[in-house]
Amino acid sequence: MNQSNKAVFFDRDGTLIKEAHYLSKLEQIELFAQTASSLWRLKEAGYKLVMITNQSGVARGYFTEAFVLEAFEEINRQLGPAAMDRMEYCPHHLQGLPPLNIDCDCRKPKPSMILKAAQALGLDLSSSFMVGDKRCDIELGYNAGVTPFLVTTGYGLKELDGLKADYPKLQVFANLAQMADHILAQAPGFG
Ligand SMILES: [Mg+2]
Repeated sequence: MNQSNKAVFFDRDGTLIKEAHYLSKLEQIELFAQTASSLWRLKEAGYKLVMITNQSGVARGYFTEAFVLEAFEEINRQLGPAAMDRMEYCPHHLQGLPPLNIDCDCRKPKPSMILKAAQALGLDLSSSFMVGDKRCDIELGYNAGVTPFLVTTGYGLKELDGLKADYPKLQVFANLAQMADHILAQAPGFG
């Protein structure tokens, strides 16, 4: 199997960067201490890195789609050589403003953002992972056929008990470094 077809999908807020309620300024973007080194190690091991994010703040009128793109560029700038390959975002919300107040098929935990990225990058989802700090991230993983991991950064600690009750086999990590250690221990080396 071509290992470059593997990916790790990442939630944004509370997973890659510190949670900032409806982040709307580039100055609010702050990577966790482990983010860049963890992504770099995964990238070196042949994983594609893809950000998957619900951004209902667009539908709610808090910020624009252009800002969501700018924020991704800023995160990648801060990541430097560990920059991600792609982002998919959902700007919709039923309680938002038209035309974005639709019952879309992309909002997590629906799987279409992962399926779209997989098609664009030619990914093998059965050997890929989805990491996030909320129930919607975990259920997205299951819905898309990738292995989900919970990190206890962001809202992860709050979500932990309920998720473990519903998904006893769910694997939980304190941060992205421990999550990366686990992935890389499963498949040491590359090629
Ligand atoms: Mg999150």
